Amino acid sequence: MNQKQIIAQELHSSQSALSNIDFKSGQTFKGQGVFPIESFTRLMQEISQGQHHDSVNIDWECLSWVDVLPTGQEQYRLKIQAKTTIPLVCQRCLDDYLQDVEVNAQFVLLNTQTEVDDFPLENDDEDALLNSFEFNLFELIEDELLLSLPIVPKHADQECQKQHIKIIEQSAPQLDESSSLIDPKTGKLNPFLQLKKLKLN
Ligand SMILES: [Zn+2]
Repeated sequence: MNQKQIIAQELHSSQSALSNIDFKSGQTFKGQGVFPIESFTRLMQEISQGQHHDSVNIDWECLSWVDVLPTGQEQYRLKIQAKTTIPLVCQRCLDDYLQDVEVNAQFVLLNTQTEVDDFPLENDDEDALLNSFEFNLFELIEDELLLSLPIVPKHADQECQKQHIKIIEQSAPQLDESSSLIDPKTGKLNPFLQLKKLKLN
């Protein structure tokens, strides 16, 4: 597959510039920049409200190009990348934690909705989207960030507060019930457990 040689236009890193791109013009585009998380209102609803997010930024990057198939047919493609670290609420211990989020997605922009609907779902390399004279790349970046969030946000096991409590519970000796002093095989008092209890007391 050959790539059509077109000099890509530079996109300005602003919400308005990314919200309305004419991908049907035949032009190709490239761009990169940084957005404060507040720019993404839907993403804001997903993050922990207890944290200050003044310093939370989203790095983004995009590139579009035209592939020419051996048949001469042209396919418009788009690649987007985004990266951030956002505060989420751990669903296990309900404490805030920082989650790395990364987007790395490729799309083929098709000209009819039927083509988009017929695009094979099992294609892992890229998804199909409807091409447009007014393509909203900003919304697509936010969609992809939302899709990259964990289904159940939680700390890594070793960092979770609840996990610590569990480990302490598991390692504590279970000598509260008197039955644990009885040997299940003989039904008699287990001298070793009695000794252990004395020591602990
Ligand atoms: Zn946790």
